[in-house]
Amino acid sequence: MQKGKINVTTDNIFPIIKKFLYSDHEIFLRELVSNAVDATQKLKTLASVGDFKGELGDLTIRINVDKKKKTITVSDAGIGMNEEEIGKYINEIAFSSAEEFMEKYKKDSNAIIGHFGLGFYSSFMVADKVELITSSWKEEEKAHKWSCDGSPEFALEEAKRERRGTDVVLHIDKDSEEFLEEHRINELLNKYCRFLPIEIAFGKEKDWKDGKEVETDKDNIINDTKPLWTIAPTEVKDEQYTEFYRTLYPMADEPLFNIHLNVDYPFNLTGILYFPKISNNVEVQKNKIQLYSNQVFITDSVEDIVPEFLTLLHGVLDSPDIPLNVSRSYLQSDSNVKKISSHIMKKVADKLEEIFKNDREQFEKKWDDLKLFINYGMISEEKFYDRAAKFALLKNTDGKYFTLEEYEKLIKTDQTDKDKSLVYLYATDKDKQFSYIEAAKAKGYDVLIFDGQLDIHFVNHVESKMENARFARVDSDIIEKLIPKDDATEVKLSAEQKADLTPVFQSQLSNSDHFIVSFESMGESAQPVVITQSEFMRRMKDMSELGGGAGMYGNLPDSYNLIVNTDHQLVTKILEKTDKKLGKQVSELREKKNEISKEREVIQKKTEGKKEEEIEQTDKDKLEELQKEVDKFENERIEKLRKHGKSDKLVKQLIDLALLSNNMLKGEELAKFVQRSVELIK
Ligand code: ADP
Repeated sequence: MQKGKINVTTDNIFPIIKKFLYSDHEIFLRELVSNAVDATQKLKTLASVGDFKGELGDLTIRINVDKKKKTITVSDAGIGMNEEEIGKYINEIAFSSAEEFMEKYKKDSNAIIGHFGLGFYSSFMVADKVELITSSWKEEEKAHKWSCDGSPEFALEEAKRERRGTDVVLHIDKDSEEFLEEHRINELLNKYCRFLPIEIAFGKEKDWKDGKEVETDKDNIINDTKPLWTIAPTEVKDEQYTEFYRTLYPMADEPLFNIHLNVDYPFNLTGILYFPKISNNVEVQKNKIQLYSNQVFITDSVEDIVPEFLTLLHGVLDSPDIPLNVSRSYLQSDSNVKKISSHIMKKVADKLEEIFKNDREQFEKKWDDLKLFINYGMISEEKFYDRAAKFALLKNTDGKYFTLEEYEKLIKTDQTDKDKSLVYLYATDKDKQFSYIEAAKAKGYDVLIFDGQLDIHFVNHVESKMENARFARVDSDIIEKLIPKDDATEVKLSAEQKADLTPVFQSQLSNSDHFIVSFESMGESAQPVVITQSEFMRRMKDMSELGGGAGMYGNLPDSYNLIVNTDHQLVTKILEKTDKKLGKQVSELREKKNEISKEREVIQKKTEGKKEEEIEQTDKDKLEELQKEVDKFENERIEKLRKHGKSDKLVKQLIDLALLSNNMLKGEELAKFVQRSVELIK
């Protein structure tokens, strides 16, 4: 028996490995099974080139769990190793990665946590003793047994093994006994080894007999050795893609369509990506893209490998060219990873464009499910924006779809304002904004619908890309002002009439400081009172609610415009009524106020240009006194008008109607409105 010391600098590295890799302990099985697969494939290669002339025989890789002995054994019938190879590959190479590990550990513990591909020595994460019994494919060689108990010392002796191949026996340590459970091993095999290219058997298939589960003598093969992505795209039928999707994500809805990736230069990449249905459902994110390296599962967090919006896709990617044993931060700067990522993005855009061009009808049908994905891509990736701008669709309130270019043409003549700016009108809720949408349509305008999760961001983004164009929600202003044209009509009311009507309307607003009352000439057939909300303020608030910056706007109260249509017959009626009842008093108060104001102005003139201390005290006193009087008359006028307004059911009714068409009339106010309406009809 030969004894030796593994060339590792620390006396006992294993406690450190365990400590740092605790979350990834389970990968030991992946590593051992991949080694077995490699050894088997090497043998097949040797056979195919004629170097190995013997019987290949059964090449199945077998996993055995012995609960009593507390061992897990991985056996293969691959190339095996002779004594010299054990020395070289296990004692030197396998453990040199341990040394490397120690080096990294000293510098950067993050590098360790994201460390993949630990190889053979990862078995020490779960075992306190590892044995390797191996026999080379070369017939003249003797079988050997290597063992190591976690200290840097190993033992090597001749052994017996019936066939060529390797058994790795792990003596599971106390902390890792979970891995002696069948279901746990099944779980790991299903996660990491499901698509490995050599058959892997774990136990026997089970059958139901007389109401009991019994083992058959058939091997339970846990993997699909030829997963769909490894087959040439030309040989795959549509239903196979759907079927494969179902095996990957049994609970998910049918995908919309897929892309089969197959590149071998300048990097190696295969895979199948599926477009899932993503409407407003963030749940989809649970089904992630799986990353493989030569059919070995590596991870399902591909955020560092593909642009974020692509992580919304489902499916598999397989590339041996993605470096796996590096830290995540390194991944993003790796040139292969960058190339792969832009290749995928290009393919995704190609596919979408192809469907758009060849089958517009299908594309439109699927648009609502694709929209979030495409818009997200356009917002977050400049390159994707440039591609997608050709096929991204806008949907109008009639359910018609347009490309950006088509839409621009559609609205160009009617929706260009006097400053030559193109105005895209949109609604975020067809029901709530119904009357505004109708008003816009009546004017010959078209209204888009933006009711998706990402639409506010999308609107901002597209707007920033366009020249001489802006987006305005239909209720952000009265129809005449949404797209201001030259022919705007003057309001007939005098400044005084406006000043008198303002308190009349204000008197009936419960949150009057949230409303700004203004007057517009909107035509006789338009609504008498309309409520709008400024596009800018509303968008800022929406953005801050979505967590997209602009935080301070989120805390501001909503602010609305209450716009009184001076052309409306009912408004004229209110004006006349007010005039009839208060006209005389109001003008008297106004006159008095004006007189005193004039008097005050005279004194003010006198003191103009003087410094505070140069002004005579009597003048100061007089100014103050007169101001008080001005205020008194002014307040009296406003009070009178408010009192009158408050008693005018018509004013209240008009305001409530405006609130109602904005879905802003709720609770008690709504009940009162109904009551009042009934009374008014009587
Ligand atoms: P890696 O697999 O990344 O090369 P490992 O530490 O897992 O690193 O293994 C080191 C080497 O040991 C392998 O490259 C291979 O030559 C040899 N080896 C490991 N497992 C087996 C096996 N089951 N059969 C034959 N050779 C093996």
